[in-house]
Amino acid sequence: MLDLAGIVEDSIVDGPGIRATVFCQGCPHHCEGCHNPETWEFGRGTKMEVEKIAQILRSNPLCRGVTFSGGEPFTQPEGFAKLARILKDSGYEVASYSGYTYEQLLHGTKAQRELLETIDILIDGPFILSQKTLETPFRGSRNQRIIDVKKSLILGSPVEVTKGRWIGEY
Ligand code: SF4
Repeated sequence: MLDLAGIVEDSIVDGPGIRATVFCQGCPHHCEGCHNPETWEFGRGTKMEVEKIAQILRSNPLCRGVTFSGGEPFTQPEGFAKLARILKDSGYEVASYSGYTYEQLLHGTKAQRELLETIDILIDGPFILSQKTLETPFRGSRNQRIIDVKKSLILGSPVEVTKGRWIGEY
């Protein structure tokens, strides 16, 4: 079961291509200038079974990627990891935003580590108003990184995506 702020079934702003975005309800970071402060409060979203969410996402044949956004998806790591596993088994690319850094999640709870290990791409770090930019695709501030999680786990240090569609090349 996940507590969600919403689902957008055809987004083009949370990653390359036509994607679905699943918005978590609840965020502990409270970044100044956050675009989604209505997602901060825990327990105020819509409770949905993971299988039901997957069914909704699979109903759009044009969508081959899913992004978890917030709120903070890593505050509900068990449910998002289960959803990510179902989506990966169905051939989707799975990305997640997090206000935590890659390094923090790597040394976070077991469940957070499991979610991290299941996704393909992590856009990490809090939104920092003084570093706000409109120039970096899919990120709001310059501190945020687009990380290839699979490569990072193999190499033992964060590998940023520096070319290709995740940085706006098509
Ligand atoms: S982590 Fe994201 S959702 Fe949470 S306060 Fe920061 S910008 Fe807003």
